[in-house]
Amino acid sequence: MKVQVSLRSRETGPASFRMFPAPGIFSFYHYCRHFARQCSDASFYPLPCTWTIQVIFTQAKIPIFSVASGKVELMDPISRTDAEWKVILRKDTFEIARLQATEPAFTGKYHDCHMDGIYTCACCGTDLFDSKAKFDSGTGWPSFSSPVAPGNVRTSQDRSHGMIRTEVVCSRCGAHLGHVFPDGPRPTGMRYCMNSAALMLVKRSP
Ligand SMILES: [Zn+2]
Repeated sequence: MKVQVSLRSRETGPASFRMFPAPGIFSFYHYCRHFARQCSDASFYPLPCTWTIQVIFTQAKIPIFSVASGKVELMDPISRTDAEWKVILRKDTFEIARLQATEPAFTGKYHDCHMDGIYTCACCGTDLFDSKAKFDSGTGWPSFSSPVAPGNVRTSQDRSHGMIRTEVVCSRCGAHLGHVFPDGPRPTGMRYCMNSAALMLVKRSP
C-alpha cells in the first residue's frame, strides 16, 4: 500500500511534510514565509493556516505469472476483510485460507487426486501449482515440488503451535495455503504441503 499525502494551505500554497515511521501517523511542519518575515528566528512553525489535506491510497500492482498466457502480468492485490471473505468462501476454505487452520490429513479432496490441471487459489483464482509438480508425499496433504512461479506465492516464518515453520501464502490475496519444508524430491528438494480447501483445481487450457 502506498499513501500519497498532499498538503496545501490557503495562505501559502503547497507544504512539505514528514512521515513518521508508524503507519498512519504523520506530522508536518511548514516553513511559513508569511510568518517568517515577521519573526526573528525564522524557524519552522506549526501553522495556524487553513489547510486542505488530500490523502490518496494506492496499492502497488503485483507481478503474477499466468499459466494460460505464459506471461507475468501486473495484477491488483486483493484485499478484503474477514467478514467479506466469510460471505464469499466455503466454511472450510474460510477457516483455512483466512484463519490459518489446517485440514486433517487424508481428508482433503486433492491429497489423492491425480487429475491434470492447474491448482489455483480458492480465494482469488491465482495460478499456484501445476499438477505436474504434484507428488505423493504420504503425508495426507497435497504436496508439490514447486509453485508455477516463485512470485505467485510468498513465504514467511510461522512460530505458531510451538513449531518454527515456513508459511506459504498466495501473493495476490494473502490466503494461507500451507507450509513448505526442505525435504521434497529432486531437483527442487522442496515439499509444498498444502491444504486442499485453499486450492481449486482448474483444467489446463488447451
Ligand atoms: Zn489468492
